Amino acid sequence: MRQSELFTTTRREAPTDEVARNAQLLIRAGYIHKEMAGVYSYLPLGLRVLENIVRIIREEMQAIGGQEVSLPALQDRLVWQKSGRWSDEVVDVWFKTALKNGAELGLSFTHEEPLTALMTDYVHSYRDLPRAVYQFQTKFRNETRAKSGIMRGREFLMKDLYSFSRDTVEHEKFYERAKQAYQNIFERVGLGATTYLTYASGGTFSKYSHEFQTLCATGEDTIYVCEKCHVAVNQEIIDDLQHACPQCGAKDVRSATAVEVGNIFSLGTKFSEAFNLSYLDEQGASRLVVMGSYGIGPGRVMGTIVETLSDEKGIVWPKTIAPYALHLVVLGGRGAETAAVLAAADQLYTTLTARGVAVLYDDRDVQAGEKFADADLLGIPLRAVVSAKTLAQKKIEIYDRSTDEKKMIDEREIHTLL
Ligand code: ATP
Ligand code: MG
Repeated sequence: MRQSELFTTTRREAPTDEVARNAQLLIRAGYIHKEMAGVYSYLPLGLRVLENIVRIIREEMQAIGGQEVSLPALQDRLVWQKSGRWSDEVVDVWFKTALKNGAELGLSFTHEEPLTALMTDYVHSYRDLPRAVYQFQTKFRNETRAKSGIMRGREFLMKDLYSFSRDTVEHEKFYERAKQAYQNIFERVGLGATTYLTYASGGTFSKYSHEFQTLCATGEDTIYVCEKCHVAVNQEIIDDLQHACPQCGAKDVRSATAVEVGNIFSLGTKFSEAFNLSYLDEQGASRLVVMGSYGIGPGRVMGTIVETLSDEKGIVWPKTIAPYALHLVVLGGRGAETAAVLAAADQLYTTLTARGVAVLYDDRDVQAGEKFADADLLGIPLRAVVSAKTLAQKKIEIYDRSTDEKKMIDEREIHTLL
């Protein structure tokens, strides 16, 4: 991508009503655009990051046997009345709308009900189980406070997977695989070291559900961390556990501020009962399906990465999710020099792009200082500078955004750094 052709630009200031650092930086860098509180558009660079996160999550969901679907955002009131969750007293985040004939509809805040109802058309026998079904889908939630940028949207993307098992033993087996898949995801997006498997309340048989909490000063949750086990306990159940680690029993758990980036939950037969999602077992007896649900917000993950990995100059993307692998910056020379420098940079851009390297090429006619400030803000992990100086030495200057290290290399060495 030639930066001169990118329709977005960087800006010095974020909107004054934007208090979240993730949104301030993402808006200033042109990754997202604010529409209103809790509602953001993803722009070309931001969409590439979001899609990289989605790709990693998708790979891990496929690896545990997930089958991808896409359910509608418009939801039927009658379906939700079966589980008792249509009521605004029970669910306080509903956005609802109505047909012209007055019939009420809900805008998806989650999908347990419609998917359980859907599965009754396909699950009849023990041979139809187990199954795992997932989607990347827009959720709407009328969040009271939407001051955390893309970490708490009123409209946001969620990956939600639902598992359908014959019994609790089969369910537990899948649950453990999903837990591992989640750990792989947070590792791969660059949050492995700061994300803790966190014991939470609400598991149906296993006593606990699990959240994945990332240490983050601006997070909205408090967790209690056991460093030895790299696990944590959330605020709801810390008293029940008498402030001890649920794995090793140590009493020296320390409190920390964190953000929930994902969670996994055993649902038991709550929804299969409401929708009569049952199957005939090998003896011909009818049994209820045992379910689980597994959520991650790719936008919240993106926001958390910005909150926790950025520095005073801007964003620092991990390689795995960066919008581009390389930021090629050309600096104009003087007079006749300029054409030669530009030609060399153009040539490098063409070569790398042909080799499949994702390159953002700053070919704009602006001052070096502005180019570097923008590159720091954008946070692409590797920067390659082509200038009269590098051309004279027949080298390229490489700068690593996360280590702040610079070195001169031969052009053919670039691929070893990507
Ligand atoms: P929170 O307690 O932070 O509101 P939640 O318990 O409501 O989260 P879930 O309903 O379990 O969250 O949703 C699954 C995942 O979706 C969360 O772990 C989070 O990553 C993401 N998520 C939830 N709410 C939002 C939101 N408003 N904006 C962006 N992502 C969200
Ligand atoms: Mg919530």
